[in-house]
Amino acid sequence: MLHIALHFVVPAGLALAIDRERWLRTWLILVATMLVDLDHLLADPVYDPARCSIGFHPLHTTPAIVAYGLVLFGPRALNAIGALRDEAIIWMLQLVGLGLIVHMVLDGIDCLT
Ligand SMILES: [Zn+2]
Repeated sequence: MLHIALHFVVPAGLALAIDRERWLRTWLILVATMLVDLDHLLADPVYDPARCSIGFHPLHTTPAIVAYGLVLFGPRALNAIGALRDEAIIWMLQLVGLGLIVHMVLDGIDCLT
């Protein structure tokens, strides 16, 4: 239960830290990345409290996590070379990437316990 709560509380802290004026919108975007857990629907059983998500579910594997890193850092790199100029899109992609990376870190911590 603590694990699930952290998926809401940690993004709230991040949202307040990085965008205090629009924290609610930022928090909603970060929390929306929990949709990545839809890959649990492919598992049998769907939920197993003893199972480590990292490396088991398709969207929790290393290639997926690398892709999330690209979503986080890629937009700013593309902006630097002039290939992506829309700051709103850059910000949105970075939030999605950040939310996904934070999600994987929290799931990873859960694997340690
Ligand atoms: Zn997960």
